[in-house]
Amino acid sequence: MKNRIAIIGTGLSGAVIAQQLADAGYFIDIFDSRDHIGGNCHTQRDPETRIMVHTYGPHIFHTDNEQVWDYINGYCHMEPYINRVKALSQNHVYSLPINLHTLNQFFKATLNPSEAELFLESLRDNSIEPQNFEEQAMYLVGKELYEAFFKGYTKKQWGRDPTKLPASILKRLPLRFNYNDNYFNHRFQGIPRNGYTEIFEKQLDHPKIQIHLNTHYRKADNKNYGHVFYSGPIDQYFDCCFGALAYRTLRFEKHHFKGDFQGCAVMNYCDEDIPFTRISEHKHFAPWETHHDSVYFKEFSAEATASDIPFYPIGLSEEAALLEKYQALAWQESGTSFIGRLGTYRYLDMDVSIAEALYAAKSFLLLNGRQ
Ligand code: UDP
Repeated sequence: MKNRIAIIGTGLSGAVIAQQLADAGYFIDIFDSRDHIGGNCHTQRDPETRIMVHTYGPHIFHTDNEQVWDYINGYCHMEPYINRVKALSQNHVYSLPINLHTLNQFFKATLNPSEAELFLESLRDNSIEPQNFEEQAMYLVGKELYEAFFKGYTKKQWGRDPTKLPASILKRLPLRFNYNDNYFNHRFQGIPRNGYTEIFEKQLDHPKIQIHLNTHYRKADNKNYGHVFYSGPIDQYFDCCFGALAYRTLRFEKHHFKGDFQGCAVMNYCDEDIPFTRISEHKHFAPWETHHDSVYFKEFSAEATASDIPFYPIGLSEEAALLEKYQALAWQESGTSFIGRLGTYRYLDMDVSIAEALYAAKSFLLLNGRQ
């Protein structure tokens, strides 16, 4: 029994831990309520066009962590890929994240980097210490750019007024005074040549790993295992006994198109009166392939109900107390570790999930004298 481990969730956190512990000699039962592995990283080819589709929305791998980069490259062939996002605002197309091109497009100017920096200085509200998303945006870029690029999109994405949202959400995006339109700052960036699902297949292809799909794990089964790693929503593990934490879910509307629909992988729709947040055209995520026809998805964000797949923990300040109550219960739950984006209720990127899962596995092995 001590040698048997249950892992709930076949997403990145669960798959990394399964692989690491199986390699160390443990027998793993890994469960997923869905009919496929890979969680929200899952990819599969569209039956009609054979284009590789990121089933739960675009996933671009980016990291500064060399250990994580080496790890993921052990399971796939990464193709170099730079995410260059376009944004539609008030009937104009702009470059994102906000860079010198965006500023010159938006203000119909020809500023050079130092002029742009000075100009932005005149737009920013430096008098505040930002406490929420809106204040952070006013502080960083000022009212006009906030209203054009962030206000409407953020309301749609999070279903809340930006004054109610944490400033940290905006801190994810760079602001540049040059023409670099790379969405990320990280050293290593790419997309796996054959999609993400292959990574999970390889990680979990191990004689000591048993995969149980379409299976809702029951807590009562904890007694059969030496340890449990749980990557589902922390509140659901405790039957939402203190009330539910808030998550956003996404719904994708699929369309086929003959040819090239929008000429880029991601087009954000920043205006509030357009109901979707962005359109992703997936053949552009695989420029190493040739496809004449196309498949694209309109992405709609909504509040997650109990039956929806939770995508984003919202992390409102008034929820901090609720989260703390669940965290206190989690600490008392002996023999169980809470992992990943939903298990820890944090907005984690893929690389951080992998780094934390490698660390969790290593700590577990050390504690159990296996390393
Ligand atoms: N955001 C925005 N307008 C955009 C892109 C992003 O207002 O065109 C805001 C939005 O609140 C979003 C956050 O910036 O949730 C972080 O953006 P990111 O692209 O990292 O979101 P993700 O890809 O994780 O959904």
